Amino acid sequence: MAKNFHQSSALSRLNFFAKRVKAFCAFCRVPRQVYKKKRIGAADVFAAFLGAAVLTALIFQEFDARGIFFFVGLLFISETFIQLRWRTGVVCPHCGFDPVLYVKEPEKAAAKVRAHLDKRADDPARFLGPAMHIPSRRPEKKTEKKAPGKGQRLSKQI
Ligand SMILES: [Zn+2]
Repeated sequence: MAKNFHQSSALSRLNFFAKRVKAFCAFCRVPRQVYKKKRIGAADVFAAFLGAAVLTALIFQEFDARGIFFFVGLLFISETFIQLRWRTGVVCPHCGFDPVLYVKEPEKAAAKVRAHLDKRADDPARFLGPAMHIPSRRPEKKTEKKAPGKGQRLSKQI
């Protein structure tokens, strides 16, 4: 597992368009790689500008103001792609934990994890995957902490 992980990070370093960082699932603690980029940056805007310039030159054979539509369209497509890539990548493939959903609606996130783990329990391929460290749920103790005050200690009362 550790060797595979190292190899995949070496591969991601070669491909600078897909910059991923090592992260651990907040629930099952299995290491994986997630896309760091959430939104488009200056390089994407420049690439969209170049793409729009090439499209404009190919279609209109000269400088044309309608090229701005290509530019806006390419920006929209790249922003949508990058956001979707980040949003789908942030969900843990092992336990199904979705940190974004957890921040908004913890009950829904818990239900999703439960459904994912139930589905996983029926799948024999789970033995081939990495070992998860699912936190166990402890029943809440109903012992109330008594505030230390006068007359609490029996030895002092006598
Ligand atoms: Zn997980």
